[in-house]
Amino acid sequence: MPRIAFLGPPGAGKGTQASTLAAELGIPHLSTGDLLRAAVAARTPLGTEAGGYMSAGRLVPDDLVIRVLEERFGLPDARPGFLLDGFPRTLAQAERLETVAPLERVVFFDVPESALVDRLSSRRVCPACQTVYNLASRPPRAPGRCDRDGTELVQRPDDRPEAVATRLAVYAETTAPLVEFYRARGILRTVDASGSLDEVRRRVRHAIDDRAGGSC
Ligand code: AMP
Repeated sequence: MPRIAFLGPPGAGKGTQASTLAAELGIPHLSTGDLLRAAVAARTPLGTEAGGYMSAGRLVPDDLVIRVLEERFGLPDARPGFLLDGFPRTLAQAERLETVAPLERVVFFDVPESALVDRLSSRRVCPACQTVYNLASRPPRAPGRCDRDGTELVQRPDDRPEAVATRLAVYAETTAPLVEFYRARGILRTVDASGSLDEVRRRVRHAIDDRAGGSC
């Protein structure tokens, strides 16, 4: 069972692809963003601490995120393999992961920065079932309503313009260096993440299936 992570800027489409591909591969999709949002919604002490960083578009401190993820790793379904989305985002997180569950493949979602702002500002989510829509490329059937349960769609607080600028800057400074970290380990694959959902899914699938090959 594979241990895979998706790496790339906010708005690159990691979460959308991860939910489809994890189901196809029969492994859990572990999104630290989703785990943290659940803690915020449940008003746990950790959620309360993390929420301020998140709505400002800043990273939650390493020790909190690592704690959330390690708790999730403790559940039996994550033992054989997993697809990580949104973790690691710092060198300290990557180094910690090496000691807990070393990755076999890292897929880097490459998208021009100009496309990211558009994608993030047109993203809407269902607060009930977490389905993600895009007003331009993946609109709901009825305007403003979730296809699955009819709940009114919302914009994530960190998809508002002020927070988006911070998230892109934090990504460039803190997370982008992980591309070299994993390239040096020979497990990185870069995919062109612009194009239709299906095109990107095929490229990502190819990058995952090619686990035996070298990096590029
Ligand atoms: P995401 O859904 O992956 O875009 O994550 C939403 C927000 O959760 C991020 O902007 C951060 O504030 C926080 N977050 C998620 N994953 C991490 C992580 N690995 N390290 C630090 N903060 C994180």
